Amino acid sequence: MAITASLDGDYLRLTDGAGDGLAVWRIADLRLVLDRGTRGVVLCAVGQPDARLTLGDPVVLAKLRVLSPGFGGSIRPKRQVGRGMLYGIGALFGLALLFAVILPRLAAAMATLVPRSYELRLGHDLLPVVAARFGGRYQEGDSGTCSGVDGQAAIDRLAARLSAARATRIPITVHVVDTRVVNAFALPGGQVVVLRGLLDFASGPTEFAGVLGHEMGHSQFAHPLQHVVEASFISLTIGLMMGDVLGVSAAGMVVQSLLTTAYSREAETAADRESLERLQAAGIGSVPFMEFTKRLTTGAAMPAILSTHPAPADRVRAMADHVRPGAQAMTPEEWESVRHICDKPKPAA
Ligand SMILES: [Zn+2]
Repeated sequence: MAITASLDGDYLRLTDGAGDGLAVWRIADLRLVLDRGTRGVVLCAVGQPDARLTLGDPVVLAKLRVLSPGFGGSIRPKRQVGRGMLYGIGALFGLALLFAVILPRLAAAMATLVPRSYELRLGHDLLPVVAARFGGRYQEGDSGTCSGVDGQAAIDRLAARLSAARATRIPITVHVVDTRVVNAFALPGGQVVVLRGLLDFASGPTEFAGVLGHEMGHSQFAHPLQHVVEASFISLTIGLMMGDVLGVSAAGMVVQSLLTTAYSREAETAADRESLERLQAAGIGSVPFMEFTKRLTTGAAMPAILSTHPAPADRVRAMADHVRPGAQAMTPEEWESVRHICDKPKPAA
């Protein structure tokens, strides 16, 4: 683009070919980037480190050299790079501070403002997206979850027993999705998704009850809702930074984040503690849940559940003082029906 530079008192006025004003730079603010002698100069202005002006007009240039000998000093390319990096590091540090420190606190505060009805609808809407993500038998209009009637009834009874044992923030609904992946998630709105692989990995119903109690703990403390608020903000920020707000699938990013991002160690410990208290209040033994968690820390084949529920050895140690013996969570027959909850193919729509 051809730019015309003209002198106007203490200012250099820049206009485009049509005569429209582009910028006005104070002559005192000009700095020399590159001097090509008779072929002109490359200038920038203080406070606008990224804008460059290549000036070749000998008349304007001669006047400028008089008004501002040496253009207030030169800026060498090397210093430019250094300064650019400094801005970059500053921006990164700012982002890190925003994402790591400010956002979680903000999200926790904002989550308390989300109306109950909205949270319920959010969980309801996210459920089929999560089921589809695991290649569940998702079809338009159904939730994509396993449909074994006896197994679901046994899970519902266990969830009701655990819910009745201790105050619950929001009613819990449990779904099983048919995939070999070993994991379980709490979604907003009290929706708990158990992946079938976890039912295969659990050595019995009481281990499963501990996992369910753990997810109920996340739900109790609104961790999933906070996570969604945070992830929405991050996806929006990244979208804005990339200049691509509409191109980013916000729901997809939020779900992806919910399914792959680990909770903090504090959140995990709080969910564990809540599970142990709930099991004990329901008269269910909590030693198996500790054993289950211990197997996660030592077993090599559990990447999925560890990626979202980190299980360092100190999580197990923290449990050790609080586990109590108690009853089994289900009868063997109930557990058998739970383990086969995905067997029956869903009736064709
Ligand atoms: Zn967890």
